[in-house]
Amino acid sequence: MKWTRSETLALSSATCPRCNGLGLCHGRGNNSIPCHCVTRAIFHACFNRFRASVQKDKGACIVNLERIGTGRSSHMTFGRKTEEYIADFYLTCKRTLTASEWHTFRVAYLSGVPWSVYHKRLNMLRTNFMQACYRLEAKLGRAFRETEPFGLYPLNEYFGTVVRGAHVAVIVPMVPRVVPVRPPMAAA
Ligand SMILES: [Zn+2]
Repeated sequence: MKWTRSETLALSSATCPRCNGLGLCHGRGNNSIPCHCVTRAIFHACFNRFRASVQKDKGACIVNLERIGTGRSSHMTFGRKTEEYIADFYLTCKRTLTASEWHTFRVAYLSGVPWSVYHKRLNMLRTNFMQACYRLEAKLGRAFRETEPFGLYPLNEYFGTVVRGAHVAVIVPMVPRVVPVRPPMAAA
């Protein structure tokens, strides 16, 4: 995936000293890579949606009719988007992180323990713990966006309110054919 400024600008932090608010940094081979302020913003958007989905009333699960693919190969299917999102979020995190990072992530983000006791439970200094969390968030945010073919971010594409690459039908207004009226004058 190629990151562009049009995608990162809205997500970047205006006060970020690393990217100066542009959202892009120089990577290897003169490639542009997303700044941590952008990927962390993506992580927080996805994590907030994950928490809202988990706390949702399970009796109110909605089965959605959704379109898979675009163009002629597309078809309609039924799905439970909220449950799928919870599973995708959890599995993406587990696959992306190393074993020690996954342990930190589970304690810090999934256990529900207050932030004041996180670093004590992990036996880490508070500064080291915060830095570890920042690295986790940046790594996961990038994975959420770059996962192919269906990344978790943008959320509106995941939940089907926006379809990327969809063919928009062009509506051509019909113009009525003009037929001149010729009454039978000779017969009259
Ligand atoms: Zn930045």
